[in-house]
Amino acid sequence: MTLSSQIESLQKSRGASDPSFIKVLSSMLEQLGEEADARSQEALIRFARFPYRKTLEDFDFDFQSSVAKQSLQKLLDEDYLSRKQNLIFLEPPGVGKTHIAVAFGMNAAMSRSKVQFISCSELIARLREAQERNTYLRRLASFARPALLIIDEVGYSQMSSEDSALFFDVVCRRYETGSIIITSNKSYKDWGEIFGGDSVIATAILDRLLHHSKSFVLKGESFRMKERREDVRL
Ligand code: ADP
Ligand code: MG
Repeated sequence: MTLSSQIESLQKSRGASDPSFIKVLSSMLEQLGEEADARSQEALIRFARFPYRKTLEDFDFDFQSSVAKQSLQKLLDEDYLSRKQNLIFLEPPGVGKTHIAVAFGMNAAMSRSKVQFISCSELIARLREAQERNTYLRRLASFARPALLIIDEVGYSQMSSEDSALFFDVVCRRYETGSIIITSNKSYKDWGEIFGGDSVIATAILDRLLHHSKSFVLKGESFRMKERREDVRL
């Protein structure tokens, strides 16, 4: 039954001036609104292509004490996205960098912002492929469009100077127009090495990325190892 036919049949049975009719109608409309919200949030979460769906509520801040929940919450409260601020999570594997990046992405999608999650190697591969197909500018624009671009695992593999130039293009296109979240297992001092040993391009990338940004250097033991140890103990 369509909404209008439901309203019509209610109207016939009760009369439009009946206060209970108005109540039923407004609750129906509210429900429809909520359903539409949930659908658009779900669509945005799917579009983002997160590797998993996790939030800050799922994060154990007692285990990972080098980052405080309050400082992450503060960024959300101060609306880092509309301030086009970048967030960078650095250092060892398994400490929750991707989890936190996904949590920020989920939060943005739930607030109806467009998010895209991509690994650094896939980002470069997509741009290279676009170059070959003469669709580079269009592809670059697609990475500039979302309110939030999450680039995961920067620095896991070294980039050539051509690849670094592609990365630089993405950072330039989004500079002061949209937030980037980066996770990396390398500290800033090793970034020259990531970008093909080209310290000029590494400096140019860092200069733009860090201008409006907040960095977090995580520490500690891998959560994966902790879980494995607990499994073994069982
Ligand atoms: P990395 O720092 O290598 O990106 P991930 O964020 O992928 O690590 O974390 C590895 C796994 O461990 C994920 O499943 C993540 O949800 C979980 N994890 C890591 N740290 C925590 C934590 N402090 N609380 C809850 N889960 C965590
Ligand atoms: Mg990771």
